[in-house]
Amino acid sequence: MSKDQRQQLRDRVAWWAGKLHVAPRIIRVQRMTRKWGSCTSSGIITLADDLARRDRRFQDFVIAHELLHLRLPTHGRLFKALMTVHVPGWRSLDLQR
Ligand SMILES: [Zn+2]
Repeated sequence: MSKDQRQQLRDRVAWWAGKLHVAPRIIRVQRMTRKWGSCTSSGIITLADDLARRDRRFQDFVIAHELLHLRLPTHGRLFKALMTVHVPGWRSLDLQR
C-alpha cells in the first residue's frame, strides 16, 4: 500500500468525521484479516489497509460505520437509520471479510 493510498483513506476519514460531527482520537490504517474496520470506545478507529483498493462507496460504508460508533456504540435503530441517511443501500454491504 502506497503512502498516497494511506493518506487518501485518512483524508476520507477526516471528511466523514466532519460530516458526522465526530472526532476520532487516533486513526490507524493497518493489515486486518477478519474485518474492514473497527472502533474502540476510547476513540481509536482502525481501517484495513487494503480498503484502499475497494471502491469509494465501500470505503464510505466502512468509514461511516466505524465513525458512527463514536456516537452510538451499538447497531440499534438510530444507528441503522443514520447509516441509511449517509450511505443508502448499505445493508447490501458487509463489514466482515
Ligand atoms: Zn459496528
